[in-house]
Amino acid sequence: MRKLELHWKILIGMVLGILFGFGMTQISWGADFVNDWINPLGTIFVKLLKLIAIPLILASLVKGISDLKDISKFRNIGLRTIATYIGTTVVAITIGLLLVNVLKPGNGISNETIAKLTETYSNDGGVTSKLEEASKQKNSGPLQFLEDMVPDNAFSALSDNSLMLQVIFFTIFLGISMLLIGEKRAKPLKDFFDALNDVVLKMVDLIMLTAPVAVFALLANVVVSSGDPDLLFALLKYAGVVVLGLFLMIVFYALVVSGFTKYNPLTFLSKMSPAQLLAFSTSSSAATLPVTMERVEEHIGVDKEVSSFVLPVGATINMDGTSLYQGVAAVFISQALGFDLTFADQLTIVLTALLASIGSAAVPGAGMVMLVIVLESIGFPPDKLAIGLALIFAVDRPLDMCRTVVNVTGDACVSMMVAKSVGKLGKPRIKNWDDHYQEVK
Ligand code: ASP
Repeated sequence: MRKLELHWKILIGMVLGILFGFGMTQISWGADFVNDWINPLGTIFVKLLKLIAIPLILASLVKGISDLKDISKFRNIGLRTIATYIGTTVVAITIGLLLVNVLKPGNGISNETIAKLTETYSNDGGVTSKLEEASKQKNSGPLQFLEDMVPDNAFSALSDNSLMLQVIFFTIFLGISMLLIGEKRAKPLKDFFDALNDVVLKMVDLIMLTAPVAVFALLANVVVSSGDPDLLFALLKYAGVVVLGLFLMIVFYALVVSGFTKYNPLTFLSKMSPAQLLAFSTSSSAATLPVTMERVEEHIGVDKEVSSFVLPVGATINMDGTSLYQGVAAVFISQALGFDLTFADQLTIVLTALLASIGSAAVPGAGMVMLVIVLESIGFPPDKLAIGLALIFAVDRPLDMCRTVVNVTGDACVSMMVAKSVGKLGKPRIKNWDDHYQEVK
């Protein structure tokens, strides 16, 4: 009998996790049981993925750069990557703004619902902590991000997952210097990183064997910790607009992949599906990064010279789903609370959501922190910010899960576009699942 493909196993794990979670909400001790006995399986899985992210970026990026042979190629890839990332993000925000302005989800929401949401969430620890985090981000100067990108200690950068851009900076510096000392002298180091790269990719395979069980645990936990179903229901129209926008982004990527790279868009989506399902279950592009890299390099055929740079940078700065959500959420909150937005305000949203998505960390809930900055940019009164966030808090987690899928798919799409444009989109090393998992055993 043909073995079930990995994405089906993950999907089954997700569905069972959701059903199990619902079952547990019906039992008085259910939520505690899931917290104490089920959730750790998911947490361990996410920790394992994060554990290998930095070694993978290091090994893969050094290998990518030292294979280049010519530094000018690297500058070329870098410029194309950043320009394409900005382009796709602007498309995402525009789609979000068009939908929210046409469908106006905030207009239909009753004062009673607004009062209930405000009462439930505005003094809630979750909203308060988002506001605190946002005010920390805001107090920095315009060039702060450049300053933050340069580490003063390589080892402390390598020991902190939230310092991904510093790791990328250090690794590019290392890779370029290896190119400059010449192939012969750099060979021992290059062989070391080549082997490290293969080993870490194998670790990804091994970790992925546990993915179906892990997503079961993660989703059961999401269900038992979600809020009042009535409030979730009240936000259905808003959530529907965000999800519709995210869906259109996936269609946009499929069209771009087929038009620009002539790659079958359905094959693209199916090859990316394990990464997408993990993005959905973990709500973190950073945790999903090792799987995104493995899928794009081994299963789609993007050369490491491109993917090793484009994907880690994308996981950190390219968040199309997040920026679309920020655009919709900012306008929805304004509609619900009766703030009129001018055309100039909407343009301001495009610009700040672009910057805010670059500044959002690739972890669960980060998009909502940066939403505060988008709201402030359109003159939203500071004393109403807590109310604004309270309005959308109830559905933030499910929307975070969906926007993370788009963030990850967008990075993969751009890596294919850049690879195609520099002649680095080749044949995948792994053609079907069985080859792959045969190798693991
Ligand atoms: N969770 C998202 C990510 O990791 C960021 C966000 O929108 O909150 O890509």
